Amino acid sequence: MKRLALHWQILIGMVAGIAAGYLLSSFTWGGRFVIDWVKPFGTIFINLLKLIAIPLIVSSLIKGVSDLQDIRQLSRLGTRTIGMYLITTIVAITIGLLVVNLINPGSFIQESTRTELMGSFGANADQSMSAAAASKNRGPLTALVEVVPDNIIGAAGSNGNMLQVIFFVVFFGIGLILIDTEKAEPVKRFFDGVNEVILKMIDLIMLIAPIGVFALLAALVAESPSPDIFKALGVYALTVLIGLAALIFLFYPTLVRLFAGVSYGRFFQGMGPAQLLAFSTSSSAATLPVTMERVEEHIGVEKEITSFVLPVGATINMDGTSLYQAVAAVFISQAFGDDVTIMEQLTIVLTALLASIGTAAVPGAGILMLVIVLESIGVNPAGIALILAIDRPLDMCRTVVNITSDATVAIIVGKSLGKLTQPHPKNWDDNL
Ligand code: ASP
Repeated sequence: MKRLALHWQILIGMVAGIAAGYLLSSFTWGGRFVIDWVKPFGTIFINLLKLIAIPLIVSSLIKGVSDLQDIRQLSRLGTRTIGMYLITTIVAITIGLLVVNLINPGSFIQESTRTELMGSFGANADQSMSAAAASKNRGPLTALVEVVPDNIIGAAGSNGNMLQVIFFVVFFGIGLILIDTEKAEPVKRFFDGVNEVILKMIDLIMLIAPIGVFALLAALVAESPSPDIFKALGVYALTVLIGLAALIFLFYPTLVRLFAGVSYGRFFQGMGPAQLLAFSTSSSAATLPVTMERVEEHIGVEKEITSFVLPVGATINMDGTSLYQAVAAVFISQAFGDDVTIMEQLTIVLTALLASIGTAAVPGAGILMLVIVLESIGVNPAGIALILAIDRPLDMCRTVVNITSDATVAIIVGKSLGKLTQPHPKNWDDNL
């Protein structure tokens, strides 16, 4: 019997998880039960995905860089990737500003709701503000210095140091290109073998994906605040969702169609499981192994492109987050009764661009960096208390956009360097 395609299995897991979460929370003991007995399986699933991230980057990037043959090709790959990332992020912020100016969600929030939200979420907002302050008081070149690690074991010790690991591996790959082929060959073959093993491990982890997302979503529902808050912030949430939908259903598919000849169907069929996982985990970093596998094996972008473009993208390219930061900044400002001038909107473009680059690929990181965007336009950052309650569902959606944007850039850069092929037919409508 043919197994159900992976994206259907994940989708069923998600729906069942939400239903179970609601059902169990209606019992007094239900919430605790979900936290103690269901959530841990979700955590195990996320841990497995994160566990694989660094070995995957190392093995596939060494192979990828050394396959590029010469340094010129590498620099072309680097500049095109960064260029495309900047362009897509600026488009995302612009779309965010357009929808928020059209819909004007700040005018829908009532004075009483505002006071209530500021009262109940003020303390959480304080926490985010002090965390953001810590990352703001740094010199202008700190980010650059941080890309160069002083110890590779230390760098590989945390998934948050992805750029440092990438730096080391690209450096290593350059060394590998420059030495004798006879000496380089066994090193390449070794990492090639390691890479195959890691890809197989991802396949195995994905076998439990439906259970993992079931547990994650059940726990999310059991822990979420009362639905009344969602109603009060409905127009704001809708504004963010409209912007995100424009990116995911119009902008990216049009880009890959125009510049890489990839059809709507191939794009979404290829990306489906990774998108569902991004939604369930709210973390581009945790989704990275699956994004890489899907773009490579199901859309047909070669390893030398995906192994560089996607991990870099997971770290610095966050279109969904930047769009959301633009919308949220204007919304909060409107809710406080201030109009946002054109100059301030331009400042938002710049700071949201920088803030999204600095946002970590983990749940809830986007709202932290929002503090910096708010300060840049002179809005009291305590205003994030207004949107904290509804942040998680929006985080899930913006993470889907973040990884889709990475994949789009990988496909287009791959095409431009002649590294986009048809995926293996066995992977077309397949399971894993
Ligand atoms: N959760 C997002 C990500 O991992 C970041 C954010 O916007 O909070 O891509």
